[in-house]
Amino acid sequence: MRQVYYLTTAIPYVNANPHIGFALEILYADVMARFQRLLGKNVYFLTGTSEHGQKILKAAQAAGIEVNEFVAQKSAAFQELADEWNISHNDFIRTTEERHIRGVQKLWQAAEASGDIYKKSYVGLYCVGCEAFKTEKDLESGKCPIHQTEPEQLAEENYFFRLSKYQEPLEFLFSETKDFVVPPNRLLEVKNMLIAGLEDVSVSRSKEKVAWGIPVPGDEAQMMYVWFNELGNYLTALGYGSADQTKLNTYWPAVHVIGKDINRFHSLLWVAMLISAGLEVPRQIAVHGFLNVNGQKMSKSLNNVIDPRELTRQYPLEAVRYFFMREIPFDTDGNFSHQQFRERYQGDLANGIGNLTYRVLTMMEKYSAGQIPPVREINHALINFLTKETWPAYSEHLNNWRFDRALEAAGKFVSFCDQIISDAEPWALVKAGKMNEVNDLLYHLAEALRHIAVMIWPVLPETAEKIFTQLGLDVALELAKPLAELQQWVELTVGNKIQKAGPLFPRLAT
Ligand SMILES: [Zn+2]
Repeated sequence: MRQVYYLTTAIPYVNANPHIGFALEILYADVMARFQRLLGKNVYFLTGTSEHGQKILKAAQAAGIEVNEFVAQKSAAFQELADEWNISHNDFIRTTEERHIRGVQKLWQAAEASGDIYKKSYVGLYCVGCEAFKTEKDLESGKCPIHQTEPEQLAEENYFFRLSKYQEPLEFLFSETKDFVVPPNRLLEVKNMLIAGLEDVSVSRSKEKVAWGIPVPGDEAQMMYVWFNELGNYLTALGYGSADQTKLNTYWPAVHVIGKDINRFHSLLWVAMLISAGLEVPRQIAVHGFLNVNGQKMSKSLNNVIDPRELTRQYPLEAVRYFFMREIPFDTDGNFSHQQFRERYQGDLANGIGNLTYRVLTMMEKYSAGQIPPVREINHALINFLTKETWPAYSEHLNNWRFDRALEAAGKFVSFCDQIISDAEPWALVKAGKMNEVNDLLYHLAEALRHIAVMIWPVLPETAEKIFTQLGLDVALELAKPLAELQQWVELTVGNKIQKAGPLFPRLAT
């Protein structure tokens, strides 16, 4: 049976339009999903939108739109972004859907049945921006460090989740499973939170305070805390709480891709909720950094907010996908600037992959009658570099969520091929009538291009498919092969007709 791989993104609040940070996240997840599919796994990839909470109700009221209509419009913008960015998700869940509401209420009841939900009076500081209670030590000069606002003082009777009960099970989990949270810097953060000690957390709000949410089962006066509500999406999308448990049994547990700001909620609260409900803990939690613009945090006041949908109207989508994966390391914050983008475009894509493809196809058209030429002498240096250095580095980096380094390895192989052409001077060989040597060179370069196409496919699927087609290969047949087979050095069918096309990455308009 094929291995399964269930991958999720966090679900963004729909109180605003899609943010570039979310685009970055679905892109990381998409590339990992495509890589896992290349490995031959049965991948299920989920994304969606979080549509409850006071913040959303206020935004709807400010916009003068009925809240159901407001969240439907906003969610549609996120779905359009996913389509425009060529995201290969299998499902898109909205927390206002019936399947989610029913499922998350069952999750609540499961925690209640374990004795982990209790009611108590509470006085605390609440940040509406975070939708979270804050302790004094979370604040900087009395303000939420994320929103720069003073939290509200709240006194009410709420339900609590017995997070403190899971201190030891979580400590055990984090010491036993080294890659449960990746990268290592994020695992360390969680371990430090555990050392500080876990306290029970409020998991409901009174309906008077939060009118837009999912009611607590059996207590209509209380609404589920938005985090309890939305974390459940990873289960409810698979049918948790419904009659059909097929997907849940097939795909759970998940690999969660999330931003560094919500590591605590996933690595501690969510994992404890799952243990409480008698479910398996996630397979892995992969935590990425944030995106800065021109070296600064994005903010409305700096007027440097990047709209992801604008960006792909300005630049080719594939180049945008490449830039983010090549330039933003998963484990730290990264930077976007138009200048950096143009440099990567020109250097790596136009002059790199694009130019190599164009050059090789042009030479085949001119020197080998538009066909894959026969080979006499094998170039062991090239094959060794590819199979012993490039592929192992590529796979290791992708398994470790280092998309930047995997692309770097592919880029080094592109440079290697460029160097081989410069060294061989095929135009001089042609002049000297050494056509066997020209054929040997072109044969190797054609097969090298096929390997490059496989390597870039998770990030640049359309470009990769164009390269397959230009080499006279059937895209569907190629992509149906597992990576272990695609990574082999094979003899491309001699005499296969190539289909040369224009440059893959034309010059950008200035
Ligand atoms: Zn806040």
